[in-house]
Amino acid sequence: MSLPTHARVVIIGGGISGCSVAYHLAKAGWKDIVLLERKQLTCGTTWHAAGLIGQLRNSLNMTRLAKYSADLYVKLEAETGIATGMRQNGSITVALTAARREEILRQAGLARAFDVDVNEVSPAEVKAMYPHLNVKDVVGAVHLPLDGQCDPANIAMALAKGARMMGATIHEGVKVSRVLDDGQRVTGVEYLAGDGEAAVIACEHVVNCGGMWGRDLAAQSGVTLPLHAAEHFYLVTEPVQGLGRLPVLRVPDECAYYKEDAGKMMLGAFEPKAKPWGMAGIPEDFCFDSLPEDFEHFEPILGMAMNRLPMFETAGIHTFFNGPESFTPDDRYYLGEAPELGNYWVAAGYNSIGIVSSGGAGMVLAHWMTEGEPPFDLWEVDIRRAQPFQRNRKYLQERVTETLGLLYADHYPYRQVETARGVRRSPLHGHLKDRGAVFGEVAGWERANWFARPGQEREYRYAWGPQNWFDNQKAEHMAVRQGVGLFDMSSFGKIRVEGRDACAFLQRVCGNNVDVEAGRLVYTQMLNGRGGIESDLTVTRLSETAYLLVVPAATIQRDLAWLRRHLSEDFAVITDVTAGESVLCLMGPQARDVLARVTPDALDNAAFPFGTAREIELGYGLARAHRVSYVGELGWELYISADQTAHAFEALTEAAPELTMCGLHTLDSCRIEKAFRHFGHDITDEDHVLEAGLGFAVKTAKGDFIGRDAVLRKRETGLQRRMVQFLLQDPLAMAYHNEPIYRNGDLVGTVTSGNYGHFLGGPVAMGYLPCAGQTAAEMLDARFEIDIAGVRIPAKASMAPLYDPKGERTKM
Ligand SMILES: Cc1cc2nc3c(=O)[nH]c(=O)nc-3n(C[C@H](O)[C@H](O)[C@H](O)COP(=O)(O)OP(=O)(O)OC[C@H]3O[C@@H](n4cnc5c(N)ncnc54)[C@H](O)[C@@H]3O)c2cc1C
Repeated sequence: MSLPTHARVVIIGGGISGCSVAYHLAKAGWKDIVLLERKQLTCGTTWHAAGLIGQLRNSLNMTRLAKYSADLYVKLEAETGIATGMRQNGSITVALTAARREEILRQAGLARAFDVDVNEVSPAEVKAMYPHLNVKDVVGAVHLPLDGQCDPANIAMALAKGARMMGATIHEGVKVSRVLDDGQRVTGVEYLAGDGEAAVIACEHVVNCGGMWGRDLAAQSGVTLPLHAAEHFYLVTEPVQGLGRLPVLRVPDECAYYKEDAGKMMLGAFEPKAKPWGMAGIPEDFCFDSLPEDFEHFEPILGMAMNRLPMFETAGIHTFFNGPESFTPDDRYYLGEAPELGNYWVAAGYNSIGIVSSGGAGMVLAHWMTEGEPPFDLWEVDIRRAQPFQRNRKYLQERVTETLGLLYADHYPYRQVETARGVRRSPLHGHLKDRGAVFGEVAGWERANWFARPGQEREYRYAWGPQNWFDNQKAEHMAVRQGVGLFDMSSFGKIRVEGRDACAFLQRVCGNNVDVEAGRLVYTQMLNGRGGIESDLTVTRLSETAYLLVVPAATIQRDLAWLRRHLSEDFAVITDVTAGESVLCLMGPQARDVLARVTPDALDNAAFPFGTAREIELGYGLARAHRVSYVGELGWELYISADQTAHAFEALTEAAPELTMCGLHTLDSCRIEKAFRHFGHDITDEDHVLEAGLGFAVKTAKGDFIGRDAVLRKRETGLQRRMVQFLLQDPLAMAYHNEPIYRNGDLVGTVTSGNYGHFLGGPVAMGYLPCAGQTAAEMLDARFEIDIAGVRIPAKASMAPLYDPKGERTKM
């Protein structure tokens, strides 16, 4: 079949990802869909996947997508006539430690919140289901009866056939050599035709589903797609007598999974230190290739397997398999439109779960491409979380040695990556280190998460309960509440919007009124057409034509992309100035006294009211002080030119030796007591701003803005759910994220964020409660419990913040 010269969309790559995107776009009614595969369908990573379809994931929406994939794969055979090998033989995950048991029970609670069938099972029950297993040291297990296994290549072929049946065309042996654009958006793809001449398919959209090839293809278009191939291993035994049908088995504490297939056993490895691959590029002729085996590398896993399933001592090995798969710096795949180039979409970087993920990922990407927005919050896999520096291949190569193994490591709260650290640092890094900072990483930034006492070990000791820094956090937290604390928040994303139309433009993208006098600060959200929250930020008017937008470190690329996408004809320049200014947050009832020691400027309420910003002298230099607080206390955020930051810090700490250095964990524990929302957790693009309780920051009277109609509609139709704060009644039952919430015994939601309220004296959580047709009082008039690893902990629910409900402390 000859290739067309035009298409609406060209999908690059015929692995499971590309096939699923083609299938779902066709299903969504798209015409002129063309999929190009450089060699043959499935010849990259897809053909050799183990084919495990597991629905137990770490977050609600990822569970939702995995469940969608499993349900789809069950139906696919009847729909297309291709035998997919999909078998719902269930899966068992066993825990060998108390910490792992807690983790799998927490995940099970979450799965239940999404209607995934899951049961806790005892070691004896595991033994009954899996007689070959040595359960002597098994301390807990969960069973998911509808999990299963499949033939990955046939699933991809079935998706491809389904796409074809709905009109898509698929061409094998066609390599895209370049994606073409007009500087703003995609215009086509170039490929080498059979005669060796370059040919073009003009198109409106491309989807890069190029797996481990995807990064370099994206880079040609200036698109950041940070992934790197790593070697991934399994072995398959010779037939084992009397094996019978067995569920899939995962023993994460031994980095292993087991799959019975046609009377043989497969043992797959998630070893702690993986081997990156493809540093010199992927061979041009790669097609259904495998990599050389490495027995020494695999041996420790096999050693543990022989104890776990003694049959491995005697079973002959039929195949040692080693194949490359792409891994990402945070073990999450990439979906969505690249911020650098319009209509350049991505679905790649699947971290060894591409088979179970692609069904759901294809479905949501097709929705996103059709409607212009995803069907629900996909921030954790959104391509806009990628940072430009992550294009660096040395960084990627080192990071993926760790991320492969992390998939089966304990997923403790606050767990930090260890490789390829230290890329982005504040000018105060050395100063903070000298004062005991223990750093964590977000978007490449090293941030002081907590401060160790002199002599205390400067390492995390992870646990599900209070960790080794609990008392440090408590001391920092109480200093903020009762004295004064200093945070280095230089990682804040800072965006300048300047020009003749800066005000009009920001009025259009922000819910609040930003047409204020220079020197005023406005807390606002950028909304989408559904009233969902795309960004949570403060906007400071610096002059008639200049604004500074301050956003979380993790969301800066997303926020820049959103702003640029909506700029249209407005005359304004959008610049990322993150690295130019540091931010020191001086917070607590004594903040004014301390600041007064280093500045001659007036700081009283009349001269410097809450919600204003102005330049002050600080030591021998200058700072712009913003009177605002994310911890709910009197305080200032000091924006200081990067070159003067160390000086400002020294001036402050010399003038106020009593100043307590505080870390990000304390910022979070203070903000949650005050019920301040956290973007990405409590508020996302699927959360309506009114239901999030942020109606006070939306000014419909100011004129039109994106999301205004959705706000007006919601005011008429009434809220379906509301954000509520909970105080757990067991001081040791830590809630973090995603724990199920029960109202009068019914599962009604999940925790969106949690931390410890050291002032309130217990764990604090946030979450949405359904409230259709109810007043807030009626909604709260019930018995609440939060499920922590299978134990229901009573909780007090409140609409008003439990700390300083009247908001008096910031105005002191
Ligand atoms: C040993 C092993 C076990 C695994 N087990 C599981 C499992 O049990 N469960 C699970 O869910 N996942 C598993 N995976 C992961 C899964 O196989 C992958 O995540 C998935 O196959 C990735 O699919 P993809 O479509 O993104 O990439 P690929 O399958 O690699 O497809 C990318 C395609 O793009 C083509 N391409 C690249 N560049 C171009 C170009 N310029 N023009 C045209 N075509 C191009 C390539 O030829 C290739 O066919 C496993 C992986 C490995 C290695």
